[in-house]
Amino acid sequence: MRCRFFMWLVAHKRCLTANNLARRGWPHNTSCPLCIVASEDCTHLFMHCHFTKHVWERVRTWSRANFPIPDDTFGSTNKWWLMARKRAPKSMRRDFDTVVILVHWTIWKERNSRIFQQECSKADRVFELIIEDIHSWKAAGCIIVF
Ligand SMILES: [Zn+2]
Repeated sequence: MRCRFFMWLVAHKRCLTANNLARRGWPHNTSCPLCIVASEDCTHLFMHCHFTKHVWERVRTWSRANFPIPDDTFGSTNKWWLMARKRAPKSMRRDFDTVVILVHWTIWKERNSRIFQQECSKADRVFELIIEDIHSWKAAGCIIVF
């Protein structure tokens, strides 16, 4: 449930990224904690960041699926998600959605770890954590096909 609510925040660009913290007048660092290059907002963090793209490339290779990697051509997470899930066979779309949620959740946790614990993992380690969670979610029956 927590992950689903989180995805609702992502879809509505309401995560507490730097731009949304600034809008509320809360303390924040404007740069993306994953790449340190761009300003942080939901679209950058989950769609345009090089770190995120690297994680998605690893997930795509691992899954042997042929979905597009989030990039600048998609204006929002929703547009990318709808386009990407159409590439999955209908029997795999529920699992694909679950993996999308898991990847976003794990990217968010890495972002928070860098900000609040000053702990930094490489994109390959974030990918490994995603795979570990996929195995756990599969054992729990949340993922069937992958
Ligand atoms: Zn970034």
